[in-house]
This record gives sequence, C-alpha cells and structure tokens, in this order.
Amino acid sequence: MHSVNPLENVQMILKKSCEILNLDGSLYELLKEPERTIEINIPVKMDNGKFRIFKGYRSQHCDVMGPYKGGIRFHPSVNGDEVKALSIWMSLKCSATHLPFGGGKGGIIVDVDELSENELEKLSRGYVKELYKYIGDRFDIPAPDVNTNEKIMAWMLDEYIKLTGNNTLATFTGKALGFGGSYGRKEATGVGVAVITRESLKKIGVNIKDSKIAIQGFGNVGSNTAKHLARMGGNILSISEYDSEYGIYTIYNEDGFNISELISHFAKYNTLINYENAKHISIDQFYSLDVDVLIPCALENAITEEEAKKIRAKLIVEGANGPVDYIADGILRQKDIGVIPDILANSGGVIASYFEWVQNISGIDMTEDDVLNKVEYKMLLAYNEIMNIKDEYGVTMRLASYIYSVLRLYKILKLRSRI
Ligand code: NAD
Repeated sequence: MHSVNPLENVQMILKKSCEILNLDGSLYELLKEPERTIEINIPVKMDNGKFRIFKGYRSQHCDVMGPYKGGIRFHPSVNGDEVKALSIWMSLKCSATHLPFGGGKGGIIVDVDELSENELEKLSRGYVKELYKYIGDRFDIPAPDVNTNEKIMAWMLDEYIKLTGNNTLATFTGKALGFGGSYGRKEATGVGVAVITRESLKKIGVNIKDSKIAIQGFGNVGSNTAKHLARMGGNILSISEYDSEYGIYTIYNEDGFNISELISHFAKYNTLINYENAKHISIDQFYSLDVDVLIPCALENAITEEEAKKIRAKLIVEGANGPVDYIADGILRQKDIGVIPDILANSGGVIASYFEWVQNISGIDMTEDDVLNKVEYKMLLAYNEIMNIKDEYGVTMRLASYIYSVLRLYKILKLRSRI
C-alpha cells in the first residue's frame, strides 16, 4: 500500500485552504515549506566503546506569531519530510488556538529500545550540543513527542544551560514537576482530545455517556484520552497497541474497559497484551468496529485508503498528528464520516506547554485546575470558531481548521508587511 508523504499531505490541504481564501498568490508559497530545516549528525560513544552516528533534525516553520514551538521525536521512521510536515502542523495548531508561537519540530532516527539508559542520555545531550545555537526561550522551544519524555527534557535542558550559561527553565517544556514542569501538562493533550470528542459526539446526537469508543495507541495521548473520556462517562471498548516483541495487537471488551486498571497494567508491564479482562481481535476487526468514534493516537498515516474503506465509526478524532492521509480523508467524506483534525483535536498539549512557558518566564505558579481549565476554554473557543467557518464555507472540519489558522497567519503576515 502506497503511504502518503506527510509533507505532501499537509501541503495539499494548505494549498486548498489558500485557494479558498484567495487572499494573496504568495501566501501558499510562503507557508508550504519551513523557514529553516537543520540536519545534524550526532556522534554517541556506545557502551561497547564504539561510536555510532545518529541523524537528527530540527524544522522551524514560521515565526511571525512568536518563537518556534514543537516536540522532539525519537523513532526509526523519522525523516526530513516528516519533521517538516510536523512543524507546519504546529504553526497551524498554534494559530488555531491563539498561542504566541510558531511551528517547530525535531527528531532523531533511532530505535530507543536498542539503547541503554546511558546511551539514551548521551544521544539526548548530543542533540542539544548540535542545536543549542538555534533554540532558546525566545527563539525555539522544544518539548517531548513520541518516545521522548520529561527525563529526556531534563537532560536536554541541563545540557542547554551548561552550553549557553543561560539559566532559564523556559527553553524546553514538558519537563518534570521538580524541574520547571507544569501541573496538567502530561494530561493536557488527552484532556483536549476528550473534550473535543465529547463536543463532536454531541453535535451528531450521541451523548458521551452512551458512546462506544475505540482508541489506537495507549501512550501519553491515547491513555490520557481514554482516562478523561472514561471520566466523562464514555465507554472504551477497544484499544490497539504495539508491542516490540509481538507487533500490533488489539484488545476488546464489549462491556467497556476499566481504564484506571488498564493504565496501571500498562505502567507495570509496558504492554496490554497480557491483560486478562479482554479478548484479542485482529487489526481488520478493530477498524471495522461498530463504534461511535475511532481515535487514532499513535503515528501518522495510520488510516490510509485500505483502512478508510473498512471504518464504520461515525466519527474520527485525530489524537495523533496526521493519522488520516488525504486519500482516506476523501473516502471518509464520501462515507459521511466526520474527521476532527489533529491541528484542533490534539492542541491541548501545546496549550499547556504555553502555560508552562508562561510560568517559567513569569515565576508565577498555576495549579492543575488552572492549566486544564485554560486548555478546555481555549480548545472550545477554537472548536466553536472553526465550526462557524465550516458552516460559512461549507467545507469539512479539516479544511475549516486550516482556513481559520491560515487566515490568522495571513493577518499577522500582512500587519508585519511580510506579504
Ligand atoms: P507515545 O510514544 O507516548 O505513545 C504512542 C503509542 O502508540 C505507544 O504506546 C506505541 O506503542 C503505540 N503505537 C505505535 N505504533 C502503533 C501502531 N501501529 N498501532 C497501535 N499503537 C501503536 O506518543 P504520544 O506522545 O502519545 O504521541 C502520539 C501521537 O500524538 C503522535 O502523533 C504525536 O505527535 C501526537 N501528539 C502528542 C502530543 C503529546 O503531548 N504527547 C501532543 C500532540 C500530538
């Protein structure tokens, strides 16, 4: 099956939204590529005494709204186009939620399961050593993404402070609580996905308390989405996950899972494969489940033409970045299955990151409720405004989100005489 290049994917929709807006011929040209993409080679002395060189990237898309902002991913499939696409999505996400940030993203081509703790630390510090001149609390603020976490952020920030002497906590977000982190940051993306899922279900006449939900991926986004949907009364019937030994597997319970039990199980075993109160179904059965909403929270291109043809859910909410490619998008539209796009649905993480940055810069603390209430408020504001655009232009939620974000970017580009 041909997999769509994520950069082509985002450019396609960006182009369409610029054409619909019809504001300035150069708008698409300005936004279609990042302002800067840096490729680095990181030497790491491995535990066996030999050096291995890891390739890494940092992409900085557009800084008219403020410093670049975006996560760092450690994964074998990281590549230049993926990082560029992810940085464009970050610009759109920050614009949609009115954050004073532009889009950035980074990554290293690596299978973290092959590294010892010591090698992982050297690699994380090595990333900063190659890039410290191009990041900073007023220039580019990285955060965790797939396979990176608060421990890695602590190593990276420590290295940044050592190399620059700039003893600020605000250069990285997604940090541990004891080292400049914010209450609520860890859960924020999942909270946001859950809030948007609840609202979108309401729009199609499904009460969250009667809803049947399937989730792909049980990492940070997937597990917190499940936790908060369960808190709202939603029933999570199926979870598809990946196990380094067994590959992709899917668990199912027609009565709905006890999510706090699943979270404890995953924390203990790092897998759900041996969870007892579940039956296993195939990945084909997962996609064909008769559920109200399917929430992909793993990686991009999870739903291509092949999967889209099978899907019977009424709604898809993109917890991951870019999980539905544009060919699948077209098929889902024909099947009248709504798709709530990533740049809206998973923006809770960057909103909480913004409040972490605000706390680091101002020295004023916020409670978990402060942060999560602000996340919910900002997301509902964006959701309602994008809904209005959807009705005004008669387009899908994805196009409406792009139109809304691009319009805001255009206005500031115009004010700054950059277009
Ligand atoms: P994570 O590494 O914590 O979790 C990803 C999970 O997906 C892992 O448990 C992994 O085993 C599982 N997985 C991988 N491939 C799979 C497959 N084919 N089928 C089923 N499960 C699979 O990462 P995360 O932080 O939860 O991020 C997930 C997605 O959400 C990414 O696209 C990321 O860019 C996006 N995102 C994350 C945040 C955040 O705050 N963490 C914010 C916005 C967007």
